[in-house]
Amino acid sequence: MNGIAERLATVRDRIAQAEARRGDGSAVTLVGVSKKQPLEAVRAAAEAGLRDFGENYAQELRDKREGEPEPSVRWHFIGPVQSNKAKLVVGIHRIHTVDRPSLIAALDSRARQLGIDQAVLVQVNIAREPQKAGVDPHALGDLLDRFADCERVRCTGLMLIPPLGIPESTREHFRALRRLAEELAIRTRPRVELDELSMGMSDDFEVAIEEGATLIRVGTAIFGPRDPGISGAS
Ligand SMILES: *Cc1c(COP(=O)(O)O)cnc(C)c1O
Repeated sequence: MNGIAERLATVRDRIAQAEARRGDGSAVTLVGVSKKQPLEAVRAAAEAGLRDFGENYAQELRDKREGEPEPSVRWHFIGPVQSNKAKLVVGIHRIHTVDRPSLIAALDSRARQLGIDQAVLVQVNIAREPQKAGVDPHALGDLLDRFADCERVRCTGLMLIPPLGIPESTREHFRALRRLAEELAIRTRPRVELDELSMGMSDDFEVAIEEGATLIRVGTAIFGPRDPGISGAS
């Protein structure tokens, strides 16, 4: 696929520079967002050494996993999850978009059926935007308590899709998510660790890294424009 290896190299370079500015020696995991990209694009990126891939639509994830290019690929789900689609997403590396008790229960039930463990992140609506997915920051503690009821699902961190804005205005939201994770981590909860922060996309991943991201989700900067013709039906 044209240019993917080159664009990936450029993104990796920018990541390294942002990590150096952060200066704490920690590394970021790059999740290549391959939604509405053909399977060949995933293959090309995997051949160029990318290991983590993110999808937004349960059906598209399933199709891509069936044609899975490399055994080393780790799949992430970063789109809204309907509880009745839990069966399509359980069994991947990370589900980033858990935001309600019924979904935690549905995922755990499916993971128990399959006899496998599933790591998830909780999506936070940090700016409390109406109609936006994600748990309200004030309700986050209660939601995290629900993981105590799980047998197979555990929470490894928090995820954020910030309000639209220029990267510098987004910085405050990234910072707020990190602070929230630090505050909540003071109290230990069963099956909850808040080590991972999934934040930052093509336009703002460097700012997110500076503010403590451990997972960044980058689509167009690696793969170029998405193909609206590829089914995103979920
Ligand atoms: C599509 C998407 C991305 C990637 O967006 P780009 O701007 O293409 O990097 C990241 N996160 C989520 C939740 C997305 O839906």
